[in-house]
Amino acid sequence: MTRTPNAGLLEWETGRFENALDRLELGSGTRCTLRCATRSLRIEIPLIRDNGSTEVFRGFRVQHSLALGPAKGGIRFHPSVGESEVTALARLMTWKTALHELPFGGGKGGVVCDPHRLSQRELHDLTRGYTVAILPIIGPEIDVVAPDIGTSSETMGWLIQAAADAGQPNPAIATGKPLILGGSAFRAASTGVGVTHIALLAAERLAIRAGSQPLRVAIEGFGSVGSWAAREMFDRGEMIVSVSDVTGAIQNEEGIDPHVLIAWMHSGEELVDFPQARRIDHVFAARCEIAIPAAFEGTFTADVAAQVTARLVVEGANGPITPDAEAILAERTITVVPDLLANGGGVISSYWEWVQNHQHTQWAEATERDLTLGRLERSFDRVVEAEATSWRSAALMLAIRRVVDGLHARGTVAN
Ligand code: NAD
Repeated sequence: MTRTPNAGLLEWETGRFENALDRLELGSGTRCTLRCATRSLRIEIPLIRDNGSTEVFRGFRVQHSLALGPAKGGIRFHPSVGESEVTALARLMTWKTALHELPFGGGKGGVVCDPHRLSQRELHDLTRGYTVAILPIIGPEIDVVAPDIGTSSETMGWLIQAAADAGQPNPAIATGKPLILGGSAFRAASTGVGVTHIALLAAERLAIRAGSQPLRVAIEGFGSVGSWAAREMFDRGEMIVSVSDVTGAIQNEEGIDPHVLIAWMHSGEELVDFPQARRIDHVFAARCEIAIPAAFEGTFTADVAAQVTARLVVEGANGPITPDAEAILAERTITVVPDLLANGGGVISSYWEWVQNHQHTQWAEATERDLTLGRLERSFDRVVEAEATSWRSAALMLAIRRVVDGLHARGTVAN
């Protein structure tokens, strides 16, 4: 059976969102505005398959909020794509861009398809068909798209060309595009490096370091987010004691060098067979000060929460901690840094990509990095200074409040 990405996350997000609406004491019309999407487009895309037959694929583009600027969000190619899923993911993007004070709203799109079953030529044509169909509602000042599950920078290159052929030649219509088309040099590393930056700010704030000892860090998931977070931790002098991926988990109390591990994996070997560590049952069984779940949603269950030794859990993935697990962590006074805050580096660096496109320039990678980490730091300070029961609650309430302020300023809602 196909696993539905984000199924749990969307349910939990809805619960947390409704709680935040209650706490903010917003009027019913404002609540309604925040729950719904501003604009939602459903399209049907005919595709001539390699075998000569024609198949029609359903696609969506949803703009949840435009209160603070153009919609911003990815395009997903996956069999589970549906209007309600895309709408909820667009809403999540609204909170993420608002929390980091970016001049964007939230958007998301997708095509119901399995990209692994389509040839390159079919994917190319499907992307072009999708682009032309949603072109009336996307653009650098209306809705800026990006890669997501099942799409990549290559997809963005095809989309940019399809838009150009239809008379919209501005590459700022998409972020996460190839460098040669005005992409960002820091984008690939941005989310993981940002996760580490926020984790270390939180560790300092909570004073969890023992003397001058390195912090021990356990990381679940060694893909884009996890491996960049691990490299950044290591490069800043902290100690990676355990990591895992889909093949299993490994540990070394003396520390794992993620650069050596990556070289090992690039040579075609599997993470679990890394000779400088030993296999363990669960990545968070290792003794550590910081735990970073960076694989996918719902991995950090109540069982994990009851056993983890970390003082700090930093959500690298979207929605990894289940509500049951979160309650246990709260009882054990283990602090959680929520996904909206911790993994915002990616969307912040996408914003800098969009800014550079508008300026018709390309900055040095170090400039993008400094600006991204600076913006994350500002968000962190606002979250920890907000009065709320948790950093998660503070982040969500700050984000919603900002969107409501945008709606008020436009005279769209009254209370
Ligand atoms: P990815 O596909 O590059 O990496 C996922 C990693 O998780 C892989 O190493 C995979 O082997 C591992 N994994 C899969 N099943 C596992 C299991 N059972 N136990 C341990 N590890 C397992 O994905 P990514 O881009 O790193 O994204 C990870 C998470 O971060 C997702 O929730 C994603 O939505 C979120 N996120 C990513 C970005 C980004 O810029 N890439 C931005 C914001 C949020």
